[in-house]
Amino acid sequence: MTDRTPNYIHFSDYTKHIPENIPVAVQQATNRFLGNREARVAELPNWQELRQVAHEIRLHTLENLDFYLTQLERQVVQNGGVVHWAANSAEARAIVIDIATQHQVKTVVKAKSMASEEIGLNEGLSEAGIQSFETDLGEFIIQLAGVGPSHIIVPAVHLKKEEIANLFANKLGVEAPPEPVQLTAIARNILREKFLKAEMGISGANFLIAETGTLVIVTNEGNGRMCTTMPDIHVAVVGIDKVVPDWDSLTVLLKLLARSATGQKLSTYTSFISATSRGSSEGGPKEFHLILLDNGRTRILHDPLGRETLKCIRCGCCLNVCPVYKNVGGYAYGWFISGPIGAIFTPQILGTHIAQELPFASSLCGACVDVCPVKVPITEILLHLRQRVVEGNQHVKPSAPLWIRSAGKIGTLAFQIPWLYQLGTRLLPFLTAPLNKRGWIPSLPPPFNRWTRVRPFPAFSARFRKWWSK
Ligand code: SF4
Repeated sequence: MTDRTPNYIHFSDYTKHIPENIPVAVQQATNRFLGNREARVAELPNWQELRQVAHEIRLHTLENLDFYLTQLERQVVQNGGVVHWAANSAEARAIVIDIATQHQVKTVVKAKSMASEEIGLNEGLSEAGIQSFETDLGEFIIQLAGVGPSHIIVPAVHLKKEEIANLFANKLGVEAPPEPVQLTAIARNILREKFLKAEMGISGANFLIAETGTLVIVTNEGNGRMCTTMPDIHVAVVGIDKVVPDWDSLTVLLKLLARSATGQKLSTYTSFISATSRGSSEGGPKEFHLILLDNGRTRILHDPLGRETLKCIRCGCCLNVCPVYKNVGGYAYGWFISGPIGAIFTPQILGTHIAQELPFASSLCGACVDVCPVKVPITEILLHLRQRVVEGNQHVKPSAPLWIRSAGKIGTLAFQIPWLYQLGTRLLPFLTAPLNKRGWIPSLPPPFNRWTRVRPFPAFSARFRKWWSK
């Protein structure tokens, strides 16, 4: 099977289709989440200590991932499950399709899973003649619309209820008033039938507990429980970075997850799945398969700073607080994962030669770093990736021409040597004096004119040190 990913949409293609109301819908939702989060965080006086502990747990796990993954595999097998290792998305899709084919599966129900978005699972299943139905309401809506998620935890955040009603009317041929309760009832009626019919349920997982081989699924809709218990076969596709050492670690991370995501103390359903059905009276699947997905994660682990990206617990809070995300929406980021975490995850998984504009799509305001429950140093990683794009690395050629890279190196040197910096700040006002128009430089000659093509540049001034000494 060929590997279709990356399924990356370049920003210039996206802008042709940008819906007008994205900022309004996105800002309403994200502001509500942030308000709720603030209230929940204020209730916990030890919030900062919890963040620090969570950061240490996640980093410790990543640094000892081989140990915890082996322990997890042992425990899952002991519990009666089957563990598969997928090096990339093509392998992961092939494993799912193989399991489905062996059991003559025709219909699959899916709980929300970012890993399955990452590997393009729905397209793979459809090519294999297997129907798959998203059962999370947001995912159900975007599957009908034929698009991917625009937010990690709220996939259809960019749509208003009127648009969803129109979508239901057009695609499902039903009368759909723009009322959330009635729209939900329509989706529920359709999905009940799919749950009863499906031979296989597919999920992701928020965490995998190595100590007991337990899958942890956090949802607000209960569809995760139905996908993982009603069909005879349950397949979970999970990134190797989702493993946590033990239940104590999980307790810390759960305290942070829902509060950071939606401002809830705890999500409505937190499911722990440690085994297949133990007998006919208990219900539950007869078979459980866990597919552990690498897809570039072990490559990221080699980079001591980049590896901190994998601490992410996908709460979505960095999206909610990001001024760039709130104005452009999720599709501008080109792949299934958007916002600040997408800007650092995508270029590392797909390569900076593919998603090279993403590390620059940030004002570096640092709001994401302040709220991240596991302290992912997003702005540091953005700068690290910018450097990789401009200067290249062992895999990718530099994107900036030699003269820009040399000028950058001279600039770095000047900032590091005080006398050289002072000399530069004294010389620049004189050198640029002919271009100075009342404190502004309206245009610079090429090749220095990328900035002044769209806005004036403040004139250089050596006054700061004088002002400071005063
Ligand atoms: S980077 Fe941090 S804030 Fe952003 S989704 Fe991940 S855990 Fe949440």
